[in-house]
Amino acid sequence: MRRRDFFRMGLLSGAAAALPATRLIAAEPASKGAPGELRAIKLSGAETSIEAAAIRELRASLKGQLLLAGDAEYESARRIWNGMIDRHPALIARCAATTDVVHALTFARERELLLAVRGGGHSFPGYSSCEGGLVIDLSPMRNVSVDANAATARVAAGAWGAHVDAATVRHALATTLGQISNTGVAGLTLGGGFGWLSRRFGLACDNLLAVELVTADGKVRRVSDKDEPDLFWAIRGGGGNFGVATSFDYRLHPFNPTVLAGHIDFPAAQAREAIEFYADLITHAPRELSVDLSIAPNEDKVPGVQLYIVYSGDAKSGAQVLEPLRRFGKPIKSTIAPTKYLAVQTWFDPPPVDPRHHYLKGGFVREYSPELIRRLAELAADARTDMYCQNANGAVADVAPSATAFSHRNVIANMMLAQTWDETSHDEAGRAAVRATWSTLAPYTDGYYVNLNDIDPKSTDSNYGANFARLAALKKQYDPTNLFRLNANIKPA
Ligand SMILES: Cc1cc2nc3c(=O)[nH]c(=O)nc-3n(C[C@H](O)[C@H](O)[C@H](O)COP(=O)(O)OP(=O)(O)OC[C@H]3O[C@@H](n4cnc5c(N)ncnc54)[C@H](O)[C@@H]3O)c2cc1C
Repeated sequence: MRRRDFFRMGLLSGAAAALPATRLIAAEPASKGAPGELRAIKLSGAETSIEAAAIRELRASLKGQLLLAGDAEYESARRIWNGMIDRHPALIARCAATTDVVHALTFARERELLLAVRGGGHSFPGYSSCEGGLVIDLSPMRNVSVDANAATARVAAGAWGAHVDAATVRHALATTLGQISNTGVAGLTLGGGFGWLSRRFGLACDNLLAVELVTADGKVRRVSDKDEPDLFWAIRGGGGNFGVATSFDYRLHPFNPTVLAGHIDFPAAQAREAIEFYADLITHAPRELSVDLSIAPNEDKVPGVQLYIVYSGDAKSGAQVLEPLRRFGKPIKSTIAPTKYLAVQTWFDPPPVDPRHHYLKGGFVREYSPELIRRLAELAADARTDMYCQNANGAVADVAPSATAFSHRNVIANMMLAQTWDETSHDEAGRAAVRATWSTLAPYTDGYYVNLNDIDPKSTDSNYGANFARLAALKKQYDPTNLFRLNANIKPA
């Protein structure tokens, strides 16, 4: 199966890139500064130095590793998924336990250091790294334990989707996670979490029962409907704004590990009819059916549209549900067949660290209007187009917009446009090209998904809509200095 290129992209975040201090040492690795001291960058952007004794003390306090430039593993540890992000943190704390997170976070807070938090490192804008600051890297914490009787899973915050799916599907159980097996569950869940099962089971964050969270004051909190309900509301869509999550408890659902899945490809000449058919289908389809629309050349490089299909209900009714799809139009390819869900979850996998440069713009679509369909069909004829519309309705809409911080509950698609390239010299032109095409699509969108988009800090409040005031008040209460700012940032009220 061809990998969708659009899902291999990213961007230099407005927020992170705009930090003046980030530029101060952007061209060179974090250095040791004066003898015995480490040069680092503060939240304010000012430069600071950290005494060797303090670094020794932090290192001794960790069960995991503390990496500095020059350490053998520093180079690989500083890299995140998007090859366009090339930052040099002063310190990387590879945390192996919650206590490591507390120590590293306290160290950063007391020195007012720029702080990034890394789960799986799949942030498109590169929020999980920083120039000259401290990175709390949770990648050593990947344990997943499933309680099959209770149908729950406890997942450490450095786990990928693949770790969770493998552990749950073994018990014929599953929950919603993303469509890429090597995406981190942490960032994905805190920002929402769409996947093949979200029409059926809701967003990843809708399946959260509890989270262990280390807040800016260094306190380890259990956050759930009963304990700290305000924080529990805020972290379901509020991203990494409220603390470092160290583990997640998910609700699991009975699930047949073999699904009906594949893709049906149409050439550009049939694009308009295929998109119209798709728009109607996904509006009325049963929740066990998930269909995404890709507008890009297919795996044989033929421009057009592809419908990516996963049916997770029972096989008998699946044949009936998929019948209209089998009968529609004159596809140039159709691959629907019984498929292991774990294989579906690797369809689009990019390398966990991709040397290529990725840039994406996206937004939520409330309806496939005739004008939007016409515009999408035009793009299908262009061999450079790489668009993906992930279905975003069904069980996602069962939750009221004010019930969690994630408020985009009444949309039909999460629409994304992307480009990928190799050379740094093309970064400016590549981003400009995506923005130019996106400007013709943006009028059909309403808000955006914080986990993917090129975040304009000015847009964060309107994007959270009626939930923003409560989020800003909670941010002031739990993170008054905005320690957790490398994200779709909510400024303290
Ligand atoms: C190739 C690709 C495919 C994708 N597919 C999907 C998809 O199918 N569905 C979907 O919904 N999204 C998808 N995404 C978007 C994905 O949800 C985000 O990139 C998400 O941030 C990934 O989580 P992560 O832990 O890897 O992020 P990181 O890069 O590690 O972190 C991203 C953000 O989350 C915060 N964060 C991470 N871990 C923690 C933590 N433990 N505590 C507090 N804050 C934390 C960081 O501070 C940062 O702001 C995809 C992204 C990529 C690159």
